[in-house]
Amino acid sequence: MNKEKIKQSFGNILQAINEDPTRDGLQDTPKRIADLYQELFAGVGKDPKELLDGSFELGHRELIILKNIQFFSMCEHHFLPFFGMVHIGYIPGKDGRVVGISKLAEVVNLIAHRPQIQERMATEIADALYEGLKPDSVGVVIEAEHMCMSMRGIKKLGAKVITSALRGRFRTDIASRQEFMSLIEKH
Ligand code: ZN
Repeated sequence: MNKEKIKQSFGNILQAINEDPTRDGLQDTPKRIADLYQELFAGVGKDPKELLDGSFELGHRELIILKNIQFFSMCEHHFLPFFGMVHIGYIPGKDGRVVGISKLAEVVNLIAHRPQIQERMATEIADALYEGLKPDSVGVVIEAEHMCMSMRGIKKLGAKVITSALRGRFRTDIASRQEFMSLIEKH
């Protein structure tokens, strides 16, 4: 990541909004933004499937659910945060490959650390798990609040956007999908 370029560019933004980039509080802001962006966008260009290499065979063929994985991401349209919970469910494939719970959270974290839109985030998580674990089915549901909705425009504080992505049997078999969705919705 080119932090020097972020620094210069953010200095230009400060000037463009008629601020004085040399005043006390703002002096180090371009550098702070460069450090922050390095952290927030660390997932750009990385392959989440590599995180799944440590999956193991358990011979388990029933639905596994991981609920309430907290995430923070940046909306690519406004560069403002959106954040909330990811819920993941999967049925292991023929070889019964499963993955540690922390690995699922790492996949979510990597994919969230890119300029994102919530719809694609669900798709990217589902695809990474479907390709990386070769399960029978994967379902991903994301509930999030978007600061670009809460702070500006319609200003709907606390409004939640829900997106989902389904792969495998969850797509074609209504009973499996309903089992997954009912477990996600139960609190
Ligand atoms: Zn936005």
